[in-house]
Amino acid sequence: MKSSANTIFAMIMCLLLISSYGCKKDDKDLSAKEAIENENVVAVGCPKTEYRDWKTSEYVLPYPMGQSYMVTLSHCGGSFHSIDGPDQFAVDFAMDIGQTITAVREGIVVHVEESGIDGEFPNNLVVIEHEDGTFAQYMHLTQNGALVEKGDKIEQGQNIGLSGNTGLAGFPHLHFVVTEKGSFHYPYTSIPVTFRNTSPNERSLAAGYRYTAFDY
Ligand SMILES: [Zn+2]
Repeated sequence: MKSSANTIFAMIMCLLLISSYGCKKDDKDLSAKEAIENENVVAVGCPKTEYRDWKTSEYVLPYPMGQSYMVTLSHCGGSFHSIDGPDQFAVDFAMDIGQTITAVREGIVVHVEESGIDGEFPNNLVVIEHEDGTFAQYMHLTQNGALVEKGDKIEQGQNIGLSGNTGLAGFPHLHFVVTEKGSFHYPYTSIPVTFRNTSPNERSLAAGYRYTAFDY
């Protein structure tokens, strides 16, 4: 039952790829030939992008161990944010309002906005700077949904916020993006990341799949 549902989903993904890219048979960058063995997850991701080995990634999923959420938008393949736009490598996780969000990596909180009301602006977010100067940005948090303050030192996996529906969310979800060092303000430049504490994600997470956070 599960595998037939996955097969149907893979067909839908392929149709989406065909409509997005023309799905040329000889295009090695497209995902159809790169499906991860034994997982039935279509390995999506942006063409010509190098993704770090997920098994040794410094990143873990942005929610507590044992929890599982659906990715609704990811990178380039299937349902994605934008190609070559600031949010090219962002990932959306469908989350009801008030779910716990955790730090993907340790760092220092450099920006907090939590005054927004769900369904309205501003977009609430927590931004954490990592030791290499990159930033993790956790967006659309609920009102007063920041559990940390500017200047706080954050451990990996620490609770940092509560999900919501503020800013340009459209529906409750976490918009997660890692951005290059320098300025974290929009329009930033996003960076592709993979996650070590979940199922195989060679080219990061695929839209339309649920990912469970494992122990790490
Ligand atoms: Zn998003």
